Amino acid sequence: MSINHAALGLLLAVGPLAAQNTPLDAFRGNIAAIHSRNRAAYLSHYLHTPALARVGPDGLRQGYDTFAAGVGTSWPDTLVATQFRIVPVTPDVVYGAYRYRVVDSSGSVRGVSERVFVRTPEGWKIAVTTAFPTPDATPPPLAIVGATLVDGTGAAPVRDAVVVTRNGRIACAGARMSCPVPPDADSVRATGKWIVPGLIDTHVHFSQTGWVDGRPDALDLRARYPYEAVEAELHRRPDRFFRSYLCSGVTSVFDVGGYAWTLDLQTSTGRSTTAPRVVAVGPLLSTIDPWLNLPDQRQFIYMADEATVRQAVRAHKAWGAAAIKVWYIMPPQPPDTARMSALVHAAGDEARKVGLPLIVHATGLWEAKDALRAGARVLVHSVWSAPVDDEFLALARRAGAIYVPTLTVPDGYGQVTARHFLPDRGALRCVDRATRAKAFATDTVALAQAPPQSLRQRLGRIVRSLAPGLGSTRRHDQGALNLKRVFDAGIPVALGTDAGNPLTLHGASVFRELEAMQASGLAPRDVLVAATRNAARALDLDSTGTVTGGAVADLLVLDADPLADIRHLRDIALVIHRGEAYTRRELEYP
Ligand SMILES: [Zn+2]
Repeated sequence: MSINHAALGLLLAVGPLAAQNTPLDAFRGNIAAIHSRNRAAYLSHYLHTPALARVGPDGLRQGYDTFAAGVGTSWPDTLVATQFRIVPVTPDVVYGAYRYRVVDSSGSVRGVSERVFVRTPEGWKIAVTTAFPTPDATPPPLAIVGATLVDGTGAAPVRDAVVVTRNGRIACAGARMSCPVPPDADSVRATGKWIVPGLIDTHVHFSQTGWVDGRPDALDLRARYPYEAVEAELHRRPDRFFRSYLCSGVTSVFDVGGYAWTLDLQTSTGRSTTAPRVVAVGPLLSTIDPWLNLPDQRQFIYMADEATVRQAVRAHKAWGAAAIKVWYIMPPQPPDTARMSALVHAAGDEARKVGLPLIVHATGLWEAKDALRAGARVLVHSVWSAPVDDEFLALARRAGAIYVPTLTVPDGYGQVTARHFLPDRGALRCVDRATRAKAFATDTVALAQAPPQSLRQRLGRIVRSLAPGLGSTRRHDQGALNLKRVFDAGIPVALGTDAGNPLTLHGASVFRELEAMQASGLAPRDVLVAATRNAARALDLDSTGTVTGGAVADLLVLDADPLADIRHLRDIALVIHRGEAYTRRELEYP
């Protein structure tokens, strides 16, 4: 049996109009009628009497007629029913319960639902039905049986494996013999599939939309898209991107720079099964003074002097930031390199004192080396200005640094400059309608609205190193060449997209980035480790990034072999986040 929408929904195969010869048949038939949106079949399961009882959080309601009147006006997009249990009470009365998850346009709701069945001449009928949301309950135990396990550690794949999840963690992962299926777990047959850890994007920005309305410094459309309104909407609705990430197989992300509210996402997503785990740094420190702030909030803190820098680092610690992020960009005028360097080193020193890792945006070789000397743990961009040299590699090794290549973000800016969006059709199904519409609107923005001088200065180095439409010749880019050198030198590499930047879409952009890493000469296995275990280390999350016993139950079930070609990470059948299993289809936007 292949894993599809209905199979996960029921986990036990059932026809939509199963005979109601046993209470379990009636139970499953009742659910199947919801899946098939069959009003008559659905109603046929209920006792046609004024005594029919329905109970929910708002109490008891009775009567078949009022119930029937409301049926069929709206059906959920998805109803996932698991953990069916049947308890005979008397020969003519049976109690049943199951766990449900309902997904519709307003989001995802989990709960427990009960039925009391009574025997009638027409078969078993429902006399009592209840449903109670249980948003904080842990997902039920699940066993995925028969897939090839690629656990993210770089170890050899395990064929015919079993992965058991329980209480949001991986209870067991390995060969079938070593991982028995527990009797209380629902099981999914996954023969011919592959299991990998959930992907981790170490470079995203929830304060940016994925289009130019979040970056008026790149292309100023504020007359049509007021920046204050755009940012208020991002703050209000981060959930739209949460779904995009899960849909794209991304179960954890690192927000490496944004407004202060992004820090709150750490708590709000900390135990969520409907959002990726977010680790965030809050406002970033910058060696230049960008104007892109709100009148009453800053996402960039200008490193004016040492006192400002050290104070900002201590404030970040107090507010719960996961790291200190520095934008290390030399000013366009003949740079006062010694002063800038001293400020970056002050940030590194203060970060060390308060126990926060230093992470740095540095695309110039000189700045990247200086950042490593200042103690940078993560470099969130490639070095684009020149080939990395032995000194850089030695510094990176000594600092124990993780290198995040972030190869494809310049392509998005290139598409904006060319006024032509190059959609990634498959991945775009994970993008909400409003964001999709904006991306396609790129082609209609007047060419007269040229990027301002400030953008050209900021991106000059990156964009100059890329010709538009490089496509298959990408491996000749400086970024790609440097990635291969860094990887070959044994420096750990992690996946990062810079999602939120124009046309680097939240979630959906991971696939092209993974493919660019492979095109740079990394083997699929090494790209996968970069996107999972190494990325978890960049976030300082030691309990995620691998499918091993005790880890957080974040994993993907794929239809094709990711070790043959990293493109097969696109072939997602199931996304399991903290033990909650979603089909790819239910996470897509219509
Ligand atoms: Zn970034």
